[in-house]
Amino acid sequence: MSLRLVLLGPPGAGKGTLAAVLNKELGLGSVSTGELFRNEIRRRTTLGRQVTRYVSSGRLVPDELVVKVMARRLSRRRVGRGVVLDGFPRTVGQARGLDAFLKARATPLHAALYLDCPIALLISRLSGRRVCQRCGRNYHTRTMRPKRAGLCDACGGPLIMRKDDQAKTVAKRLEIDRAKAKPLLEFYRQRHVLYRLDGRGGIVQVFQRLRRLLNHEGWLKNSGR
Ligand code: AMP
Repeated sequence: MSLRLVLLGPPGAGKGTLAAVLNKELGLGSVSTGELFRNEIRRRTTLGRQVTRYVSSGRLVPDELVVKVMARRLSRRRVGRGVVLDGFPRTVGQARGLDAFLKARATPLHAALYLDCPIALLISRLSGRRVCQRCGRNYHTRTMRPKRAGLCDACGGPLIMRKDDQAKTVAKRLEIDRAKAKPLLEFYRQRHVLYRLDGRGGIVQVFQRLRRLLNHEGWLKNSGR
């Protein structure tokens, strides 16, 4: 079965880390809008220039542009065992766009997973988060250290703090997320695909919770995992 999941939750809830584990453990492909945008900005593409002012200030890129970019990206990729979307959709407008895209292909979503986390934990995770400038892999100064200080285990690239993880921008991102989350969750609740997952603790614990849920729903059958 080809599993289609979206990961919802505020910045720092662990969406990117969980997407990486889903890729490693269950073979699900992942697409992260944040990472996609950061890549385009780094490569100074036309899209990168269009989104840079939003990303660096922590504001959301306009829905129309995000949906267009994601539809193009999703049409191109082979889904294989399944796909997990990290950081998309962020608004009801984007959720509608994704819905229309999936309906047209008769490939509905299995679940919208909301990672629940207390705000103090979000702030602590974001302030210690470091990312590989080359491959985008996440680390944490206290809880997820690299083997060699300052360097990525996977590709040896330098680890940096994201500009938008600085305290001032974090406050703005959390505020925007709070405003957008409620209607978005309601959108998925009404479609009976909303699941809340406790996002506290380490990634191993969070993944175990998710695996239990996927097993319970029978979505890991035939996946060979
Ligand atoms: P993230 O890596 O998911 O925290 O995203 C980093 C930044 O990219 C966000 O603060 C936004 O500026 C932009 N971004 C990522 N995903 C979206 C989205 N679905 N809609 C609008 N903007 C987004």
